[in-house]
Amino acid sequence: MITLALSKGRIFDETLPLLAAAGIAVDPAIIESRKLILPTGDPGLRLIIVRATDVPTYVQYGAADIGVAGRDVLLEHGGEGLYQPVDLGIARCRLSVAAPVGFDYAAAVRRGSRLRVATKYVDCARQHFAAKGVHVDLIKLYGSMELAPLVGLADAIVDLVSTGSTLRANNLIEVEKIMNISSRLIVNQASMKTRSERLEPLIAAMAAAVAGEGVVAPAAGAAK
Ligand code: ATP
Ligand code: MG
Repeated sequence: MITLALSKGRIFDETLPLLAAAGIAVDPAIIESRKLILPTGDPGLRLIIVRATDVPTYVQYGAADIGVAGRDVLLEHGGEGLYQPVDLGIARCRLSVAAPVGFDYAAAVRRGSRLRVATKYVDCARQHFAAKGVHVDLIKLYGSMELAPLVGLADAIVDLVSTGSTLRANNLIEVEKIMNISSRLIVNQASMKTRSERLEPLIAAMAAAVAGEGVVAPAAGAAK
């Protein structure tokens, strides 16, 4: 049995069509249930539902053979014990610096001011500001980063942005893009060796689905 780890929400929603294109169906009635282990149309493949930030951990330790995780999550995790064979191009967004509309971020950087920056992405943020030579005090948060500048916790935030509507709703604007983000297929390194005859066709089928090549027969081989 191959176990694929996914998080609920955009990653789950955008992975299902890729699985379908790879010939793997998931019963909509099962999706609606609150079960955390879901069978698929392929008797040799099941899905487990975990928090987005926990996907690399499940795959690293082999509790899942394969998973789908954002580049943001993988960078913070470190990628230890994982292969990243396919960029699925889903759950696209960017990691950016955002600041209140009235705050002149560029001028503060030019002046060499020390900035307080709130973020969930401490490692990525530290690297970014160090490379630019910007002095920052990073404040680790676990959610609702947009609030931090509004109540004086931070001058700016580093967060994921897709449409920018959450930023706008909170009077913030994106002032600097750090990197583009999309989700990748990740594979446990030991599974890749010991279960290659099942994993390789599945990985190939998903890569083909990303490339828009439609249903690929070898995916059925994953069931064996
Ligand atoms: P939750 O929102 O339930 O607290 P989470 O933020 O960890 O959990 P999601 O919001 O589902 O989980 O995000 C999962 C992944 O989707 C992120 O790691 C990122 O790679 C990607 N993503 C794409 N667009 C966005 C966005 N606008 N905001 C947040 N994540 C996004
Ligand atoms: Mg989220």
